[in-house]
Amino acid sequence: MREIDVKLVTERVRDLCMEANVTLGEDVLQAFDRAIEKEESPLGVDILKELKENARIAREERVAICQDTGFAVVFVELGQDVHLVGGDLREAIYEGVRQGYRDGYLRKSICHPFTRANTGDNTPAVVHTEIVSGDTLKLTVAPKGGGSENMSRVVMLTPSDGIEGIKTYVVQRVKESGSNPCPPTIVGVGIGGTMEQAALLAKKSLLRPLGSKNSDPELDRLESEILTEINKLGIGPQGLGGRTTSLAVHILMMPCHIASLPLAVNIQCHVQRHKEVTI
Ligand code: SF4
Repeated sequence: MREIDVKLVTERVRDLCMEANVTLGEDVLQAFDRAIEKEESPLGVDILKELKENARIAREERVAICQDTGFAVVFVELGQDVHLVGGDLREAIYEGVRQGYRDGYLRKSICHPFTRANTGDNTPAVVHTEIVSGDTLKLTVAPKGGGSENMSRVVMLTPSDGIEGIKTYVVQRVKESGSNPCPPTIVGVGIGGTMEQAALLAKKSLLRPLGSKNSDPELDRLESEILTEINKLGIGPQGLGGRTTSLAVHILMMPCHIASLPLAVNIQCHVQRHKEVTI
């Protein structure tokens, strides 16, 4: 059994919150480059170049990529041979978020649903914990912006809706979202499981590097087909027209009940930020 002090978790979460909010991944920057090559709209090309420039300034000047620094979504993969000491894991994560948003001068965006009173420190975080084999602890911080999260949906399709029903729903969701999720977007899709599991699959699918292939050839094909249809919609970068409405569609799937076909669409804006560390 390996001991890990949760103080280390606080430190790492603090750093990840700040890093994720100022540094876009190389995979995202490369996806911008590919989009610039393909985009037919001159305005769309200009906007994509501005997004790259914005990312450069954020990285070099250590300022947030976007004013919406998001809900801190934290994925924890806890090895079953780890013994956490020194306190409560969830509280350690919250403290890391508190410190990261304070020290990184990141906007605090979390409030009471009714009164809208701000909690003041960007907590609570949304924490998804999974027990895995091994003696390491993996932390992934994925700050999620409100504009794109608002455009996300879960729907319980019927089994007879099938693949065509899934394609139609996802494309329609992107169409109805228009410019609201700050395109170009990444469309996370969760298929199967139960209602809440589909939503989690959709969210997790966004952690896959942009430009990578789905390990399931059938889903890889489906991702390409849906992306092609989405990019015919003409919404374009920032909704001002063009071919680059989405940079990618990512799908995760698991078996479902014989009576249902759960489908979740989690839309991610172009600020596709997440950082991870393994302790
Ligand atoms: S949806 Fe994304 S780009 Fe738009 S305001 Fe929110 S975080 Fe920023």
